[in-house]
This record gives sequence, structure tokens and C-alpha cells, in this order.
Amino acid sequence: MLSESEPVEQTATRRRLGLGFGRRAWVPYAVLGLSLLATALVGRFIAATTAEVQRLHFEDAASAVVRSVAERMQTYGVALDAGVGLFASSRTPVDADRFERFARQFGVGVRHPGIQGYGYTHTVPADEREAFEARLHREGYPGFRVWPNGRRGTYQPVTYLFPQDARNRAALGYDMRSQATRAETMDRARDTGQAVLSEPVVLVQEIDEDVQRGILLYVPVYRPGAPTETVEERRAALEGFVYAPFRAEDLFEGIFEQQPSNVSYSVYDGEPGSGALLYQSGHVTGAPDELELSLVRSLDVAGRTWTLVFRPEPQFLKSSADMLLVPLSVGIGVIVSFALFFLVLRETRARARAIDVATELQRSEQRLRDASRAKDEFLAMLGHELRNPLAATRSALEVLRLSGDLHDDDAVAALAAAERQMLRQKHLVDDLLDVSRVSRGKIALRREDLDLRAVFAEAVETARAPAREKSQQLEVVAPAQPIPVNGDPTRLVQVLQNLLSNAVKYTPEGGTVTASLALEEGQAVARVRDTGIGIPSEALDRIFELFAQVDTSLARSTGGLGIGLTLSRRLVEMHGGTLEAHSDGPGLGSEFVVRLPVTDRVSSPASRERADWETNGRDQSLRVLVVEDNDDARSLSERLLRRWGYDVMSAADGERGVRVALEERPDVALVDIGLPNMDGFEVARRIRSEVPLDQMVLVAVSGYGREEDRKRSAEAGFDQHLTKPVEPPELRRILREATAARRPAPPA
Ligand code: ADP
Repeated sequence: MLSESEPVEQTATRRRLGLGFGRRAWVPYAVLGLSLLATALVGRFIAATTAEVQRLHFEDAASAVVRSVAERMQTYGVALDAGVGLFASSRTPVDADRFERFARQFGVGVRHPGIQGYGYTHTVPADEREAFEARLHREGYPGFRVWPNGRRGTYQPVTYLFPQDARNRAALGYDMRSQATRAETMDRARDTGQAVLSEPVVLVQEIDEDVQRGILLYVPVYRPGAPTETVEERRAALEGFVYAPFRAEDLFEGIFEQQPSNVSYSVYDGEPGSGALLYQSGHVTGAPDELELSLVRSLDVAGRTWTLVFRPEPQFLKSSADMLLVPLSVGIGVIVSFALFFLVLRETRARARAIDVATELQRSEQRLRDASRAKDEFLAMLGHELRNPLAATRSALEVLRLSGDLHDDDAVAALAAAERQMLRQKHLVDDLLDVSRVSRGKIALRREDLDLRAVFAEAVETARAPAREKSQQLEVVAPAQPIPVNGDPTRLVQVLQNLLSNAVKYTPEGGTVTASLALEEGQAVARVRDTGIGIPSEALDRIFELFAQVDTSLARSTGGLGIGLTLSRRLVEMHGGTLEAHSDGPGLGSEFVVRLPVTDRVSSPASRERADWETNGRDQSLRVLVVEDNDDARSLSERLLRRWGYDVMSAADGERGVRVALEERPDVALVDIGLPNMDGFEVARRIRSEVPLDQMVLVAVSGYGREEDRKRSAEAGFDQHLTKPVEPPELRRILREATAARRPAPPA
């Protein structure tokens, strides 16, 4: 049974200590796993965010570049348009001088590093070629001639080109119609009336080592006043083109030098795959795995589509401070995870240790409970075993005393001594049992409203004889008015008796014991003072502990066990009162003070019949059955009952007891519980099944006086429960009550 209840109690103990369920050894690992997982997720999230942020940065950079290329090209277009305006607004033909002055305003080559020159090409029909060359000679170009040689329908020679550096001078006179790309571009410009950009070409200016790709931007110039609505009209009205050659590298480097250097740029005329590469930045292109970040943007520039491809340089990725966030956050996450892990591990181990301790605690509690139960059972059994012989002795002494045959003084004295010793033994047994019951909370008070004076008087009476024996003076002070208290009279007498008997015991011959009762500040106060050996101050509290004695040798000689005060204090406390000890020191006497709460009910004087049983007056005839297997006990009881004047019958076992009871119908049956074959409970049940309650008083006589024993006998049908040894006064009282109850009943 113990092993079954253990796990349940262990769980309860752990819950009480806040230890929850189990040791939870898995918790630290779960915590570690979860926090590492969280770290990984956070790392991934940050990485994704970082990549996204980088992509946005990169896209911004690309858009800015595209914007600036578009703006730059637009600016050039506007510059050329201005040149066209010059021709349109001139009343006289524009000559080299005027054009140069105009061109200089644009700061070609200085403000616009990519533009190679600002020029004009005049449309020259084949038959006007020589006149045209002559005109230019006059305008200050003595060596001017249209080249390459060969006869073509119209010529489109480079006429003016500024600034006049070596490259540009090399281009003068070059017939741009002699080359298909240029011719086609100019045709489109002429036919549309718009600025038109050429495919990449090799400029005739490329006279040195550094040959770059070139592009040309043409804007048509029409004869002033001529209609230009239709293509035919525009063709007929064409006078020439204001144009600008660009060296692609110079152009784009000029644009890109203000752009982020950690991005590489490629510019294609047309699609990256099929079109011509116009420009490729000098930076190394990104590694293949970073290519996913490359961006492609197309841009319409004067009739052509350029494609710009952007790639981040490795340092673009590395320079980004965000990239540090991932290793940083993962690092911190891992550190925190392990820190958490160790913390939880420590806590879990502490919990496991606490559970061990709790389990051990619980086991030792259990052992203590077992030991305590064993002690209580032992005490109960001891009490039972001691009570049977005591009962017999008690009855024997009673019979002896009542026989009146003792004329010898010695015999009388011996009888008295035997009675005293027997009483003392009985008290010891009672105390032992009581204290074990009190400590288990198993004593129930039978409280009633009473006058404490009656209790006090009864206790004082029991002290008279012992005090007299030690030639001590017993002084008693009691108030005239009643002291109403709600309490158990038996227990309160027991307390006062105990204090009085201690006072007598610990006071030498000739001393004085004073017992007083008073109402003080709304409390009932009983004091027992003596002039005895006193109590050292350090022992004043200890004497109330179980088995505590100040001087064990003395206590031994006076037959104490160190129980009385413990029991008394507990009983007083159960009444809501206090018990305290005072002493001025060894040899100076002691005082014990009991304080009890008073009630406002004026009690009916709880007249406790004292020593009534000693009277020999014969009671009205009552028929009493004694069922008892122990021959001594049975015959002693019979004799005692006869002396009291009752009609007695007896039975030595349960079956006979039932038979006699049913046949003879006695008024009272005293039934021993511990009978062989059929126990007292069964006897009671059988009798009760035939005899109604008011026709027979059933009294159980048992070695056990515990609450559960009393309950059991009540259930079996007993009216009263007496414990062995049966106190004659108690028995007499019960019989008197039975007599009184019978009296009004009509005679059968
Ligand atoms: P015991 O059976 O030993 O008397 P108690 O519990 O009644 O047990 O008392 C405990 C101890 O208190 C006694 O052994 C004794 O040393 C001390 N004591 C009790 N009453 C008195 C008293 N009136 N005078 C001196 N000592 C006392």
C-alpha cells in the first residue's frame, strides 16, 4: 500500500515545492534547437533583406546612369538644333567664321569631353563640287578638297568642324556619303527632319593609335523658306546637316565618371547579343554568381536604341555595410542560444536536484509518519494491555473495600496504598493514550456550558488526600459568583488535577499549595501556586515539551513521564485558552496559570456528582447483565454490582449473553467487546434487533477508548462506551441514569 501511494505523494510534494512535472531533461536541448532555428531564420531574413536593399541601391544607380546618358544626349541634340537655327535665321549664307564663333559657345571638348567636334556638312551636287571647293578656299581653307575621289551624285563633305585640332582637320572635306552607314543615317535625318544618330562607325578623325568607336548625330538644315511638309519637299529643300561626331569611349567615360565606380557598364547599340558594343567600362565584370544582379536598360536616343548593361563589381557587394549584418546577427544568435542553453541546463539540473531532495524529504516524512503511527499503535496497544489487568485490580480493590471485613489498620492502609498506586498507574496509562491522541488531533472535546467552580472544586478534592499525606497546607480561594465557561468538564478537571498533583509532588513536606479561581479582565483564571522546588528560568518553556523534565532523577522517583504539562497545555489551547508557568527560580516555588475564555451564558450548575458512588445506599432494584469472558473480571463486577444493590445476571461468552439478554430482558447489559467467537459488537447487534432502544441500556466495556472505537460501538447499537478499567463512579452514574429513566415507565 505504501509503494502504491508513494508516486502520488511524490508528485504532490513536488507540486507543493513548485517543481511541476518531472525532471524535464529535454528542455535545454529543445531551447537550444529552437533558438538556433530562430537564429537561422533571422539570418536568412536579414540576408534576403540585405540582398533586396542592395538590389534597390543598384537599380537606383542604374536608373541614375540611364537618366544622365539620356540628358547628355538630349543636350547635344539641343546644341545641334541651335546650329540649325543659326542657318535658318541668317539672311546671308553662314561662312566658316560665323560658324566657328557659334560653335565656340558650346565649349566643345572642354565642357563636353565626349563630343569630338561641332560641325556642318554642306550638300554639294556633283557638278557644283569645284565651285564649292573654291568657295572654301576663299573662306580660309586653302587646301580644302572633297575626298575620297570618285564621282558620286551628291557629296556631303565635312565642311566646318570645330575645334580645329589635328583630328578634326584630318576630317575636313571627307565626303560622308561615301560611306554607307553615314549616308543612310543622313538620309533618315533628311527624310524625318529629326536629329538622327548613326550606328557605330570609325571616325575619320581616328588618326592615331587610340582608335575608338565613333557615332555621329545629324540634324538636317533646309533652305530657309522652302516647304518641308513631305519627304519630297524635305529632300528638295536639304542644304546640309549640323552634326557632331562622338568618340564613344570619351563620351561615356565623361558621363560615367560622376557615377558609382563599383558598377561596371556596357553600352550596346541595339541588343547586347546582336548589337555593336559601344562602350565597355574598364572594370572587371562581376563573377558569374553575381550576374543575377545585373540589370539591362534600354534607351531611345535620336532614333536608335541603346542598351545599357550594369553589373555590380565585387566591391559593390562587399562595401555594403549591410553584408556584415548577416554574420553579425547569426554570431550573436548562436552565442545567445548557447548562453540560454547553459542557463536552462543549469536550471534543469537544479530542478532535478530539488526533485531528488523533495523525494528524499517525502520519504523521510513517510518514515516519520510510519514511525509515529507505529508509536501511536504501540501506545494504544500498551494502554489496552495495561487496562485489562488494571480493571481487574480496580474491581478487586473495590470489592475488598466494600466488604467491610478489614478491621486491621495495616490492612486498611495497605488497601489505600494499593488503591493509590493503582490510580497512579491508571493515570499514567490514560495520559499516554491521551497525549498520543492529542498529537494526532484525535481528541474531540465534549463541550457543555458549565460553571468552572464545579470543575475547580472537583480537581481540588482529588488533591486533598495527597497534600494531607505530605503534611502540606492546601489553600483554596474560589469566587462567590459562577464562572461560565464552555468546555469539556472531564478534560478541564484533568488539567487542574495535573497542575495540583505536580504542585504537591514538587513541594516538600510541610509546604503550601494554593489553588485560586477568579474572573480577571473577562477571563476565567485558575492559578496553582506552590512553595516547592521551583523551576529554573531557562526550563520554563521546555517543561511543556513532551517527555521534558527538569530533574530526571527526581521525576523518576516521583513516577512522572514528562507528559502531563504537554497534555494540559494542549487541552487548554483546544479550549481557546493558555497555560503558563512562572517561577522566581530554584527553591522559590512555582505558579501555573490557566486562562480560559468565559461565555455570557449563565450555565446551569454542572453539578458533577463527586464520590456519590461511595455511598452504600442501595439503589432501586435494576436488573443488570454482565457479559465477560474473563472469570475474575466477571465475578468482581458481579459482586460490585450486587453491593450496589442491583439484580445481577452474567454470561461468559457472546452467544450465552445474547440468550440471557433476550430471555431475561435485563434493564442494563454490560458487554465486553473482546469476547471469543462472537464479539461484543455482534452481541449488541443481535440484542438490538429484538429489543427496542428504550427497553434496555447497552453498555460497551472496551480496552480501546479511541473516537473510532466509540463510533463503532454506537453503530452496533450500544448506548454507552466505557473504557477499561471501568471507573466505579462512571459505572454508577450510568446505572443511576438508567434507573431514573426506568422510574416513570409503567411497571411491566
Ligand atoms: P512529570 O510527569 O514529570 O511531572 P509534567 O509534564 O507534569 O511531567 O512536568 C514536567 C516537568 O516540569 C516535571 O518533571 C518537573 O520537572 C517540572 N514541574 C512541573 N510542575 C512543577 C512544579 N509545580 N514545581 C516544580 N517543577 C515542576
